[in-house]
Amino acid sequence: MSNAHAAMRNGVDVVIGLGSNIDRDENIPEGVRQLHRHARIEVKRVSRVYRSPAVGVDDAPEFHNAAVLATTDLEPTQLRNELRELEARQGRHRAKDRNAPRTIDLDIVYYGDLVAEFNGWRLPAPDAATAAHVALPVAEVAPDWRHPETGVATKTLAATLASDESMVHSIVEAQLSSPHTNSAHSAFDSSVEVYSPRVEAFVRAQLEEIGEDPDREGLVRTPLRVAKTLDFLTSGYHTTVEEVVNGAIFDADGAEGMVTVKGVEFYSMCEHHMLPFFGQVTLAYLPKGKIIGLSKIARVVEVFARRLQVQERMTNQIADAIENSLAPHGVAVIVEAKHLCMMMRGVQKQESSMITSAMRGTFQENARTRSEFLELVRS
Ligand code: ZN
Repeated sequence: MSNAHAAMRNGVDVVIGLGSNIDRDENIPEGVRQLHRHARIEVKRVSRVYRSPAVGVDDAPEFHNAAVLATTDLEPTQLRNELRELEARQGRHRAKDRNAPRTIDLDIVYYGDLVAEFNGWRLPAPDAATAAHVALPVAEVAPDWRHPETGVATKTLAATLASDESMVHSIVEAQLSSPHTNSAHSAFDSSVEVYSPRVEAFVRAQLEEIGEDPDREGLVRTPLRVAKTLDFLTSGYHTTVEEVVNGAIFDADGAEGMVTVKGVEFYSMCEHHMLPFFGQVTLAYLPKGKIIGLSKIARVVEVFARRLQVQERMTNQIADAIENSLAPHGVAVIVEAKHLCMMMRGVQKQESSMITSAMRGTFQENARTRSEFLELVRS
């Protein structure tokens, strides 16, 4: 399995420019989201969205542009290929006409301080120094970044280009002058929001379906909030145990005593009703030369809690993760949780909680070890 986090420590800072003039209210946030989810691209900062007229074509819809500061361990050509892949997922078909409307452009603007010529493209992107719609968002995420050929800081470039070309505006200004009636504009209220515009649209439809008015004041921003919340609550899908534990596994020769961690809180959602279940995890292991930082256990739990789950599976996944990371003599996990799908619907005794366990290695094979653990849990 690849170790994205470890590799990223040797990563290169890059600036990626985004542009769209088809369904741009959806495609810019979706592009940012795809970058966020890429295992080998770590997004550090996202600009506001800017709008600018299309170049070279009359009547073409105007563009929205943004920029992202990220770290990656991909080589320039690999990164470019990955960006092409992400563009294709958003329905981008590269046409011969360079100025044709497009769902999304994802371009490398800067790759560290690399100056290089590739087959048909170069770094830094030539328009980094000539186009306000590139320079303005770039200056927001990396103001002190120096253009590797001229040494000019991006904030200086942006200021110079913006004064010549007053046609590029931050969307925030544009928004003030044109009141909106639907929820799509909220995508641009702030820069670092990560969510799926499709989920936002589904939630809006869902509100209509249950007889609500999604345009009434209290609900106007609800689809966006739900989409963002869901993105957070399901972030476990794109987090790996390797990323989380990396750098926090220590050699501990001679440490043979049982390590027990009690009361690790978690919040998850049941996959049957998409309603929360929540409670506490108790975990123990018998080290065989390796131990893990305590705080990392909570992070491992989150990797599995932040997705749609059933409690039994989550319990086993946590045990497997510790077993695979530490190769200990044994692992024991007990999860105690309340399920809102039972409590809210009055299906079972409403105050009852469910207890699941997973015993591995010594905890499974040796009754004394197991009872020692259960004794510790009870105390
Ligand atoms: Zn349920």
